[in-house]
Amino acid sequence: MSHRILIVEDELSISELIAINLTHAGYEVHQAFQTEEATLLMKDSPPDMMILDWMLPGKSGVQYAKELRANERTVGIPILMLTAKSEEADKVQGLDSGADDYMTKPFSTKELVARVNALLRRHSRLPTNEDLMTLGALRLDPVTHRVTAEWPQSPRREIIVGPTEFRLLQFLMGAPERVHSRAQLLDQVWGNEVFIEERTVDVHIRRLRVALAVAKCDVYIETVRGVGYRATRNPSTPLSDLDPA
Ligand code: CA
Repeated sequence: MSHRILIVEDELSISELIAINLTHAGYEVHQAFQTEEATLLMKDSPPDMMILDWMLPGKSGVQYAKELRANERTVGIPILMLTAKSEEADKVQGLDSGADDYMTKPFSTKELVARVNALLRRHSRLPTNEDLMTLGALRLDPVTHRVTAEWPQSPRREIIVGPTEFRLLQFLMGAPERVHSRAQLLDQVWGNEVFIEERTVDVHIRRLRVALAVAKCDVYIETVRGVGYRATRNPSTPLSDLDPA
């Protein structure tokens, strides 16, 4: 069965160009010209991936990405953001809103297809370890793709994380206490893709921490100055100081 990709782009010529190339690459393509139409198209089943334009009439792509990430039903959809803007600050804002990858117009359709392939490959691997992973109060289930926090004397709480943050957390939890450099994380989590810059790792770590902070679990992800990041069972912020959420 081919992957279903939803294109949300108001410029017909660009939308058509992407649709033709992705159809040619074997994907099932759907097109929406604004976010309300996209929401309608996703009512029955969410797509496997979304290509989302930043500048749209009505709600912007950035705002829409934030909403998709905040919704349990759509949080797992990988998003490739398109924009005409090229400033670095905008790029970070695009990633911060919840996008997993980012392309600036004008782009090569060959590169777009390569990125779509890579993004889908990253997010459709079957779990290799069916065991529940735990780290302190954190629980990660690779089969159901759920992250929960289980503090003593507190109700179990589900933590909503995006697809890239999930893979990042899964990788870090798989080797607790070990420090990973940004380059190593890119290699392991993003699959050695040439397109992604090292600072992208920082953006996704920040997003992961914001998500985990809802259940006071952000302390488990530590920055090791000058080296990179690690997941730890013994956060330098003592757990006794924490007020379980
Ligand atoms: Ca547009």
